[in-house]
Amino acid sequence: MKERNNYIETDGLYWESDTHEWFHDKSTTKYCRNEDLHGTKLNWAAFFVRDKSTGEYTRVLMDIETNELIRDDTSLEAQGVFIDMMKASKRYDDENVEKEFELSFCEECIQMTNHLNGECQKCKAKKNDNR
Ligand SMILES: [Zn+2]
Repeated sequence: MKERNNYIETDGLYWESDTHEWFHDKSTTKYCRNEDLHGTKLNWAAFFVRDKSTGEYTRVLMDIETNELIRDDTSLEAQGVFIDMMKASKRYDDENVEKEFELSFCEECIQMTNHLNGECQKCKAKKNDNR
């Protein structure tokens, strides 16, 4: 049976089940929710989960919005790398969403339309219809 780690349990017991104890990992939660250099952050919370039968701790990440478990790790380094990777992946998704729209004024349609890839997406659709 692994001994208790007072450093890990410093934020106090958060929740307890028959088999596990959950301790809030404040510093990692803060790290998830802090914006990185590009302004990307994750709405996650981090916990240390202690197996009552072995005393072993696992690092767990949870999505606050969906209450879904994202991942568990035993090493702080692996968890940190994963968080950075997911921030980068989220930023990539956000940029792709933005790239689906490029609003500008179209002389043909006489209105603001989506000019993704440098051409009016509405006119292009019209031409195809008249074929
Ligand atoms: Zn147009």
